[in-house]
Amino acid sequence: MVSNRMFILACLLTVLLPRQSIDAQVRGGAARGEDAEKPRVLVLATGGTIASRAGSSTQVSGYSIGFTGDQLLAMIPGVEDIADVTVEQFSNIPSGSMSVERWIAMSNRITELLEGPDDYDGVVVTHGTDTLDETAFFLHLTVKSDKPVVCTGAMRPSSSVSADGPMNLFNSIRLAGDPSARGMGVMVMLNDEINSAREVYKSDTHRVETFQSGALGFLGWVDSDGVVFYRKPLRRHTADSEFDISDREDLPRVDIVYTYIGVDEYAVKGFVEAGAKGLIIEGIGAGGAPSSFRSAYRLMSEAGIVTVRGSRTPDGRVTGGVDTLPAHKARILLMLALTITDDRSEIQRIFGEY
Ligand code: ASP
Repeated sequence: MVSNRMFILACLLTVLLPRQSIDAQVRGGAARGEDAEKPRVLVLATGGTIASRAGSSTQVSGYSIGFTGDQLLAMIPGVEDIADVTVEQFSNIPSGSMSVERWIAMSNRITELLEGPDDYDGVVVTHGTDTLDETAFFLHLTVKSDKPVVCTGAMRPSSSVSADGPMNLFNSIRLAGDPSARGMGVMVMLNDEINSAREVYKSDTHRVETFQSGALGFLGWVDSDGVVFYRKPLRRHTADSEFDISDREDLPRVDIVYTYIGVDEYAVKGFVEAGAKGLIIEGIGAGGAPSSFRSAYRLMSEAGIVTVRGSRTPDGRVTGGVDTLPAHKARILLMLALTITDDRSEIQRIFGEY
């Protein structure tokens, strides 16, 4: 008798409880009720494997660009339950065709979308994975907003069986619309894992779990019950960054010199001739260089080039140098630093703060 009454009470409660609290029970703390306003998310589509189509559904190489951002969105029915999504087609290119000019236009556009009259709650950038970590880091240093910006992509073309792109896009939209992602800077979201743009790198040429953050670790997960963060980036980024590219069309030239046993000064000579203003020296161990490289240092100082020492060892710090960034990201930071100063101690401060 008692359990019958309990059953009837439970049924009544289910019918009478406001929709929002049922959602909250089912979907956890991040849920929004039907009456609550859904986040407004803009998807900026740029191309890459996520926008690619292959000849058959089992072909995962030898594909080419074949989907627009709108077509990608149509692959994730149900997304309208979690956000109001608008798509803007920024480009439709493989990520090897990105450029500094495109980065500047993209960053300024994202700032406008988040802080201008449109006032979006978050932006998702779909992008090829090959250079996604570079674009993400550039945006991390230059977008002037603390609202979420999420970069995503795919390792399999979106025409393939078990394509990873549609779920990556779905989870990225959810992350970009989640209030807990505010202030986290630019994030990279693939394979349910949230990485900071500063640490993330592509670790594997083919596997879907390719994006990793090395010794410093990823930030959290996007799971079926919502977004979960475990840590927050402490280095300066986005709204707290001192770099202003709003009126720029390009950046000072910075190149990278990789070192190895027997390396000499010839690559440096070429970069000096090409007009480099800065060089990242991808050194050995804790930022040293092989003895065969000595003559290059004279060339660099005669040319007045700003140099920053890094290391080809993937994890760990280079004291007084690059400090945990890989060379292709250190290059981006030095290009931006050189828009402000060529004073070496100031540049060292910047490498310590970002
Ligand atoms: N070639 C592709 C690109 O970076 C690779 C990818 O998106 O996974 O555009």
